[in-house]
Amino acid sequence: MIQQYGLIGRKLSHSFSAHYFNKKFQSEKINATYSLFEKENLTGIKEWIQNTPSLRGLNVTIPYKTQIINITDALSLEAVEIGAVNTLKIHKDGKIVGYNTDAYGFEVTLIHGREGQKEIPKGSALVLGTGGASKAVCYVLDQYHIPYRCVSRTPTHEEILDYESLLTIDIPDFSIIINTTPVGMYPEITQAPSFPYSRLNATHRLIDLIYNPEETQFMKEGIIRGAYVQNGLKMLYLQAEKAWEIWQSK
Ligand code: NAP
Repeated sequence: MIQQYGLIGRKLSHSFSAHYFNKKFQSEKINATYSLFEKENLTGIKEWIQNTPSLRGLNVTIPYKTQIINITDALSLEAVEIGAVNTLKIHKDGKIVGYNTDAYGFEVTLIHGREGQKEIPKGSALVLGTGGASKAVCYVLDQYHIPYRCVSRTPTHEEILDYESLLTIDIPDFSIIINTTPVGMYPEITQAPSFPYSRLNATHRLIDLIYNPEETQFMKEGIIRGAYVQNGLKMLYLQAEKAWEIWQSK
């Protein structure tokens, strides 16, 4: 039977994953297909997965990385600690196991120094957004003992900053600024998260998880002030490769 893989999310018209996996299946002569499954909500999703025996694995994207946990039968330790899942492995007996491969992709990005060398960054981080990808980012920052504060439009507890407070905090105290929001993603490419960019300088590092466009407005604001900037492209490839490794493992 031809194996089926795919991506679940709400809006998937510009998916990297379908292109990446179908190209891989073709070039490596793997008898499988990768499809896009746009879902308005997750109602009935577990039954759909279990009634599709050819389905071996799914990637999960906006806005379901947290919600999808409810339909899993087991989680990897990392997924439990992160509280978000971006990869589902579907076993032959219908058991659904959740993993998080975003963390691995982000980790490699984080330790990629300005000159291409491996380097554990020093200083504190500001994480813009509190969704699924933000959870994976915070998990990795914890692993590297990098102190951080998250920023949200609607902070749910006092540790989380709102965007207005960025106008008054000491930005030089935060040397790494990470955009985990979709603001600036294609087609809204002229947008950037609300941030006091004029206070950035060459000591800052800006990481945007967005990969389309490859140079976001958020990154441009850093580039003109001499900051070290990175996009989400490396993370994107690595999280996909890791998902494939999981789907293939016994
Ligand atoms: P998500 O779960 O929907 O979370 C996004 C978060 O961003 C939300 O929780 C929200 O936080 C904030 N946000 C959403 N809309 C916003 C707006 N209009 N203005 C300001 N903040 C907003 O999505 P996700 O899965 O974490 O993905 C987020 C982004 O990361 C996407 O662009 C995605 O493509 C990218 N990503 C890239 C990779 C990669 O491999 N490069 C992997 C994962 C994700 P608050 O409600 O707290 O403000």
